[in-house]
Amino acid sequence: MSNLLHTAFDPENFRKSGHQLIDMLADYLHETQSDTSLKTIPWKSPDEQLKYWQEDDATAKGDIMPLFKEVLENSIHIHHKKYMGHQVVAPAPVTALASLLSSLLNNGGAVYEMGAVSNTIERIVVQRICKAVGWDEQAGGFLTSGGTLANLTALLAARRAKSPEDVWIKGSGKKLALMVSEEAHYCVDRAARVMGWGDEGIIKIPADDKLKMRTDLLEEYLQKAKAQDIEVIAVVGSACTTSSGTYDDLEAIADFCQQHSLWFHVDGAHGGAAAFSPKYRHLVKGMERANSLVIDLHKMMLTPALTTALLFKNESDSYRTFAQQAQYLWSDQEEQEWYNMGKRTMECTKLMMGLKAYSLFKLYGNEIIDQYVTRQYDLGKTFAQMIKKRKDWELAMEPETNIVCFRYCPENLEEEAIEALNAWVRQQLLEDGAFYIVQTRLKNKLYLRTTLMNPFTTEKELNALLERIEEVAATWKSTTLNY
Ligand SMILES: *Cc1c(COP(=O)(O)O)cnc(C)c1O
Repeated sequence: MSNLLHTAFDPENFRKSGHQLIDMLADYLHETQSDTSLKTIPWKSPDEQLKYWQEDDATAKGDIMPLFKEVLENSIHIHHKKYMGHQVVAPAPVTALASLLSSLLNNGGAVYEMGAVSNTIERIVVQRICKAVGWDEQAGGFLTSGGTLANLTALLAARRAKSPEDVWIKGSGKKLALMVSEEAHYCVDRAARVMGWGDEGIIKIPADDKLKMRTDLLEEYLQKAKAQDIEVIAVVGSACTTSSGTYDDLEAIADFCQQHSLWFHVDGAHGGAAAFSPKYRHLVKGMERANSLVIDLHKMMLTPALTTALLFKNESDSYRTFAQQAQYLWSDQEEQEWYNMGKRTMECTKLMMGLKAYSLFKLYGNEIIDQYVTRQYDLGKTFAQMIKKRKDWELAMEPETNIVCFRYCPENLEEEAIEALNAWVRQQLLEDGAFYIVQTRLKNKLYLRTTLMNPFTTEKELNALLERIEEVAATWKSTTLNY
């Protein structure tokens, strides 16, 4: 038997397949940017997909390229101009090269010695984002694995800061809670429950017609909680919400938190990057008053998943979250060492995530984020105009971002039929695969939802989408409905 380890680590094998892979991906990028007949999503049901890969798994092993090709062909194509689904970015290609380097080096983690470069450039990336937010040198933070984990970590920091003595050592005797819009991402609810706060620990503030948090109700909800002996320690603002792309009034929340000495956390997973756009910065006004802030770089910052910045206005707050002895990693937990990132993150080992963003900034500066955010948010407005101009279409609301929700409402259809029609159309689009869009419920109505993530999508593809929906909807009327 040949020595598998020698084969697997053979530099020339790596060189050969590496070149082939890059060639394949460059051709792929080229195709996604042209007018291609390539489907956005090659749809298979979960059972079909499983069968496909079980058969693949049972076939003989040889060259790696056929596998890479199959993966490419069977995956959803985020770089496709007709990809308009969830908020996942088409990463700038250089960041994928950085990912390759990161994977092979496998540096970067809890302690400086294991990730000298990684921890250092992560700090530089973080400071750059803090500066864009409008913060000074007192601010800081780190990168972590996704908005969900970052929000939890921020709220753990809030809990430590606002009930400092007991909670880490003895657990909390008090009932603690946070307040957040009912429209917030579900991970905030999950974080409160992970911390053991239960139903009472997550106070949902109703949203108005535009799906913004009713900040005028904060006082009333706070007093209600107090009367029940529940101690509210934080308010979470959404910048923006996931389903509709609406920004909460961050100034109003900041005022309220200041007045009541509460921790102000901003979930800017999607829309925090607006700080980089002079044109759209106004949407995040007040964000700079937050104690902590989450921005997903894998959403509006052109970086592959998972790369999330968790930032603190006062960096010292970030060191108190986890007070723990780990003698084999670092000798003094209390010391605020920026270069031992694991003191502050939930992760111990983690990817060299800073490298991806660092490469992007190094080549293109902050300007590329400005150009991207501004273009996509502009496109959201253009799309909304197109929808409003067409007969039989309804816009859920004027979009503030690149998230646009709408539905097709042919005349004389009842609410129930409109929902059934739109849900059915969305399923047809999915199975057909030319476009990829999703759906959501807003104000208890079903809407089609697009997030215009692709930097090459234009009015042409948007127009084609609307036409395609009308075409598909026409077949539903004739085959499924007897009106
Ligand atoms: C996407 C999103 C999250 C979750 O982030 P992940 O990186 O997917 O874990 C949290 N909050 C908001 C507002 C989001 O849009």
